[in-house]
Amino acid sequence: MDCFFCREDGGDVLWQDDSLRVVLADEHDYPGLCRVIWNAHAAEFSDLSAGERDRVMKAVYGVERAIRRVMQPAKVNLASLGNQVPHVHWHVIPRYSNDAHFPLPIWAPRQRTVSEVMLSSRRAQATLLREAVRQEIEQALG
Ligand SMILES: [Zn+2]
Repeated sequence: MDCFFCREDGGDVLWQDDSLRVVLADEHDYPGLCRVIWNAHAAEFSDLSAGERDRVMKAVYGVERAIRRVMQPAKVNLASLGNQVPHVHWHVIPRYSNDAHFPLPIWAPRQRTVSEVMLSSRRAQATLLREAVRQEIEQALG
């Protein structure tokens, strides 16, 4: 089996422990998009134990808080699909009314072009995520 998230980090690792990692994705249109990735291979959320599921959701909660604080989005989207990479992971996505797909999901057809100036400004904001994610996730996981 060749699984992308078993083989690669899947982005710039902002925080990790033995069970999971938080990465900042390299998504041109979505600066600040983070993924919470379970380290061990599991295809479905229900393959995890109750304690493991709880740990994943606490981490997602912490990352959402960090994204709200740093990126100040209009909305945060939480998504777990795994159709292309069937390895438990959650997308935590800052959304803005003028982003490329709003109000549709980021995987829907593009709605508009976003200025590079705006994207680089959001990319600059996203550099503050590492510290915010560390603070929020350590608080969330206790
Ligand atoms: Zn895997």
